[in-house]
Amino acid sequence: MPAQQQNQKSPPAKCTACRQPMSSPLFCDNCHCLHPADGSSHFELLSLTPTFDLDLALLRHQYLQVSRGIHPDYHGSGAEGDMSVHLSAQLNEAHRVLADPVLRAEYLLELHGGPAATGDKSVLAGVLTDTLELRERIADAKAGADPAALQECHAQIERRHATALAQIATLARQLPGADELRARLRATLNSMKYYQKLRAEL
Ligand SMILES: [Zn+2]
Repeated sequence: MPAQQQNQKSPPAKCTACRQPMSSPLFCDNCHCLHPADGSSHFELLSLTPTFDLDLALLRHQYLQVSRGIHPDYHGSGAEGDMSVHLSAQLNEAHRVLADPVLRAEYLLELHGGPAATGDKSVLAGVLTDTLELRERIADAKAGADPAALQECHAQIERRHATALAQIATLARQLPGADELRARLRATLNSMKYYQKLRAEL
């Protein structure tokens, strides 16, 4: 395994039942018992160091490995089976969030105590006007059955989306940072939602 991949993995915990080191916090490689994960972060579930620049191949590898260890097929029915189903759902959610750069940045911001989307709706300057104008141009292009104009709108949205994503990455790499940085990341993530929505509408 390359050094960078090793650096992204956190040290193993020990099984509370047999005291052997565990490669995943969710199950013991030695005695195969399952471990509750309440309070564990998405990164912890996958034994990954919390960082924006995740090695996606390692993320996939960890996900598949842990999935196999906790899979309901291997843990029968009853309490063990219920826990297996519960842990699998937690693991799937962790993988879904961490595999997506925008959701990953959002999650890291939350981990670092940044402002939540529910409480801070601020967006970057010009985003509201910009999306409003784009929406009008899309409506005009559709009304006028103008595929070239529609194509241009599409290209512009893609550019805005790529710019916002690059800004999110730059800011998320600097977490935890100061309040100002976290506020700016919040505003950039909020702005991104406008472009994602426009993208979905097209
Ligand atoms: Zn054990």
